[in-house]
Amino acid sequence: MTTTATIGQTPRIDRYPAYVYDLPALRDHMAQIRQHLKGIEIYYAVKANPDVELLRVLHDYVDGFEVSSGGELSHVQAHFPDKPLALSGPGKTDAELSSPGVTRLHVESIGELQRLIDSGRSADILLRVNLALPVEGASLTMGGGATPFGMDPDTVNEAMTLLSAQDAVRVHGIHAHLASGLDAPHMLKLAAEILAYARSHGFSEINLGGGMAVSYADPGKRFDWQMYGEGLRELRQSGEVLRIEPGRSITVYCGEYVVQVIDVKRVHGESFAIVTGGTHHIRTPATKNHDQPVVITGEDEDEPVTLVGQLCTPKDTLSRRVHINVKPGDVVRFAMAGAYAWNISHHDFLMHPHPEFHYIR
Ligand SMILES: *Cc1c(COP(=O)(O)O)cnc(C)c1O
Repeated sequence: MTTTATIGQTPRIDRYPAYVYDLPALRDHMAQIRQHLKGIEIYYAVKANPDVELLRVLHDYVDGFEVSSGGELSHVQAHFPDKPLALSGPGKTDAELSSPGVTRLHVESIGELQRLIDSGRSADILLRVNLALPVEGASLTMGGGATPFGMDPDTVNEAMTLLSAQDAVRVHGIHAHLASGLDAPHMLKLAAEILAYARSHGFSEINLGGGMAVSYADPGKRFDWQMYGEGLRELRQSGEVLRIEPGRSITVYCGEYVVQVIDVKRVHGESFAIVTGGTHHIRTPATKNHDQPVVITGEDEDEPVTLVGQLCTPKDTLSRRVHINVKPGDVVRFAMAGAYAWNISHHDFLMHPHPEFHYIR
């Protein structure tokens, strides 16, 4: 992986494909979120994008980082040793459970809690609850029914009994990451229900999770952080700590995946442009089965073209029937590539060269 640093200007790209991260744009976006969420703790969910340059920008605005593995934990600790850290994940090993420097350990099951207690070490935990709440409009659900995440309310009661018989493991409250892809009104509705549950059990530290909606079909349609912040402050009662851990909605907009057209062809009446790179670098359109938004700079073209990558599979489709005029050598920019893009992709499938990484500073 090669990196270039270009201070104060858009980087010059010599080789395609490339990722370009806009750090000032990320800073502005995060500063706004921080402003709207006064009084609410924000942990950034590192699994959305663990790029160190991005974490360095976010570090100044977030209260902590949420990590989902021992790998993410040591990555973040190596660069930001003093930042509070929450460790999540449904399958923590004994080694992960005993990692030093974890501010909050999110416990996912009775088995995990028992292993933690048996280890004899002290820990500060939140219990991850899976409440049977309807989550309308979500793109992915991690709770609200039978999933491998967290504990249902009966199991939480069992966990409290286990915890009451010892004092090395201290429970501070609950963690509930139930769905992703929700807009602010739906998120607030869910928050009200999670808080009602928490209060009925005497919990005053509540992590409401991430999953704030982003729209790949309409990149301009943004999550309403102002409404969400105001709503959470209204919901919060004195003495309560409310925390959120968004990932995608924070970093998705600051990244672009930039490619060059290799070939343009018509097959059975449809136009295709084959570009350098593909879903082995940006798996997002394949996993979400969407069209990755394209930055259109020239005139709109009547005749649509489907943009595909270099892989020998029909799944390597980046964006279908885009109204742009492209010829070999042209550069195409895919937007919204700052989260769940490079780091969730199968980079070595077909052994093409990895992209270069550029940063606008
Ligand atoms: C993935 C994840 C998040 C972040 O979700 P986004 O949709 O990226 O905001 C937060 N919390 C937990 C427990 C997660 O697994």
